Amino acid sequence: MAKKFIQKYPLVWKKDDLFIKIYCSIPNIATGIILTTNNSTFIIDPGDGILRDLNRDKSAEEILKISDIFISHGHHDHVGGVWSLLTYLSVMRKKTALNIFYPEGCVEIESIYNAFQKVYSHELTYKINLHPINSSRTFTRKSVKVKPFKVNHREFAENNKTVEVPSIGFKFTYNNKSICYGGDTAYSENLVKMAKGSDLAIIEAGAENAEFTDLHMTRDQAKAIGNTAKKYFLVHVPE
Ligand SMILES: [Zn+2]
Repeated sequence: MAKKFIQKYPLVWKKDDLFIKIYCSIPNIATGIILTTNNSTFIIDPGDGILRDLNRDKSAEEILKISDIFISHGHHDHVGGVWSLLTYLSVMRKKTALNIFYPEGCVEIESIYNAFQKVYSHELTYKINLHPINSSRTFTRKSVKVKPFKVNHREFAENNKTVEVPSIGFKFTYNNKSICYGGDTAYSENLVKMAKGSDLAIIEAGAENAEFTDLHMTRDQAKAIGNTAKKYFLVHVPE
């Protein structure tokens, strides 16, 4: 029987001033990632616990510098911390705008945003800009090039059938260094292309076994993709 693999968190990677820390990425529990450069602070997939992890790690002043949130898809383990993070930023009187990038059709983010506006709009100290992504067009945020790409993630619906979930990965490039994050995905040619040659690839290995490969990748699939990057982390590994 294959030896059980349990990823230890946090996972940290740094090259010059490009820094990434994966606080957590456990299927059905939570993901939470911070990416920083000398002049930017981004959060990727703020699952439950992101505020606790940020608070342990960063001053309030640093947390207020978060300018952009990138969401790979709307599953609760990737967005469960959004509400508390948005609230905290207002309580701490954030003044600068916050951008949220997410796959078009991600009903979870739009629902959280609408409910949040309903409760807090009268006292919100900062502007929230929603950016649904419907193409793989590259854009730049704080000197970081961001290339979203479609991946291939599904969830169980009625009768044990699976349906596609709006889901994307992101490739971040900054001063010729690149990080590829695939989010949750089954084997994806887009991810294969984007991970190749990256300085860091963050690859999910969420399939319990070969039966579930239309939702997630096996460890062998994930490793094969990771090995085409200079360095890789396996995340979202079932515990
Ligand atoms: Zn998922």
